[in-house]
Amino acid sequence: MALTRSLPAPMPPAIPVREILPWAILGGLLLMLGIYFVGVEQGALAIFNGMYVHEFVHDGRHLLGFPCH
Ligand SMILES: [Zn+2]
Repeated sequence: MALTRSLPAPMPPAIPVREILPWAILGGLLLMLGIYFVGVEQGALAIFNGMYVHEFVHDGRHLLGFPCH
């Protein structure tokens, strides 16, 4: 006699797209802002004067293959 019974697998709760959409947009904007600062800021374009942002993200820029110098 087997002592184990198979239970029905629990179903994950459904997440409506309306709840995800604002967070997806926010995440996409933050991602694009990060890509801008790593890839373009103080290289092709510059919002801030000096080279602080460039030096701060310099290794990431090379790692991701953005043109630098
Ligand atoms: Zn470089």
